[in-house]
Amino acid sequence: MHLAAPETVQGGLISKISDTRAETVFEDFKPPYSDGQAFIEANRCLFCVDAPCIEVCPTSIDIPQFIRKIATGNVRGSARTILSSNILGRACARVCPVEVLCVGDCVLNEAGIPPIQIGKLQRYATDMALKADWRFFEAGDDTGKSVGLVGGGPASIAAAHELRRQGHACTIYEKRDVLGGLNTWGVAPYKLTADASVEEIDHVLAIGGVDVRYGVDVGVGTSWDDLLARHDALFIGFGLGEDRHLGVPGEDLKGVYGAVENIELLKLRPLEISDAKKVAIVGGGNTAIDCVREALVFGGEEVTMIYRRDEAAMSGYTHEWNAAKMLGAQAQWRALPIAYEGGEQVEQVRCVRLDEDRKPIEGSEFVVPAEIVLVAVGQGKLGDLVAPLGITTEWGRIVVDDEGATSRAGVWAGGDCVNGGKEVVNAVADGKVAAQAIDRYLQGGSNG
Ligand code: SF4
Repeated sequence: MHLAAPETVQGGLISKISDTRAETVFEDFKPPYSDGQAFIEANRCLFCVDAPCIEVCPTSIDIPQFIRKIATGNVRGSARTILSSNILGRACARVCPVEVLCVGDCVLNEAGIPPIQIGKLQRYATDMALKADWRFFEAGDDTGKSVGLVGGGPASIAAAHELRRQGHACTIYEKRDVLGGLNTWGVAPYKLTADASVEEIDHVLAIGGVDVRYGVDVGVGTSWDDLLARHDALFIGFGLGEDRHLGVPGEDLKGVYGAVENIELLKLRPLEISDAKKVAIVGGGNTAIDCVREALVFGGEEVTMIYRRDEAAMSGYTHEWNAAKMLGAQAQWRALPIAYEGGEQVEQVRCVRLDEDRKPIEGSEFVVPAEIVLVAVGQGKLGDLVAPLGITTEWGRIVVDDEGATSRAGVWAGGDCVNGGKEVVNAVADGKVAAQAIDRYLQGGSNG
């Protein structure tokens, strides 16, 4: 298990420390296809008319078309088809929950035949595009307009690329020293490594004309008024905030971490393995499951998920949890931590059992041994940061219309800061839709 960051990453590119990053310990959980495997899998596709797999893709990739191109040896054309709809198609091929999206809706499921492995085929084509440095898109003629994008995650990257195709200058304001948002520092490393994320973004931004300002915390160190004065339109894609905690005693003990904080340590910081064998993960979502799997890979022998609901009601994907169980994950269902206990270092989580109405059952206290506790109960919302703009928020999320327009003219938003935390592919779709609306606005249309 990774314990702590001995130092912070200074000065930008993570590749500077790539040899020692903790994430290098993880194996690729969906290994890439060889040429032969991709050809065989592509030729199983029925190339359906009205293909249901397209309908469930938030970026509407023409899946049968890109698969047909692989089947006929046109991998370059396949990559073009994918990236025309989803410029971060390489990351999405790795991190999309295809089991509940395109693969889950493949018609072959109904016939009791294994569905087409769409994600792996998408990875095959997009990996080759990056390796061969195929460039499909050019910046449009300069319009003299500029757009500021706040946050450097998938939504902003997708928006910036689309805006550059229309000829608008773009500046991304990123508070960290690396682009990619959760793709780079928050997605489980066995799905997407930090350098795979950064490589893809480098390739996307090779379109040119995107100025990136690192270390800028808009709303804290830089004012919104500055940005409004500097740009003709703004796009907000700053994601979510810090890990939330439960507010129980012992949260300041050594060994108690937020889940996303821990994933960031694994992805960006130098390798530092402890001999901790007992790990508790609080929460039942996909981030919690990621933490469970990571703890098991790092040598955890007693890795226990503590969740307030039943297994059937967990918010994480069933296929992800089943994979964790195969690695040896354990769980305490209908359990709520009431304290982290130990000396200086955490030693156990004191819990209480909950009834069907999620009320504590009297006399039901028990403890889960844990040398490390990872708390995966969500991230804070950053809606307060946009208060100076006077735009409407709800429960900390920015409220937008179907095209990402906020309640303030000239300001759009998308991704997790709007939806509260969905998939990468949703953020990409938001960024693209908003960019198209911004383009119309800059050409003399309205805010949407
Ligand atoms: Fe191919 Fe399945 Fe999509 Fe049909 S539904 S086009 S078989 S991937």
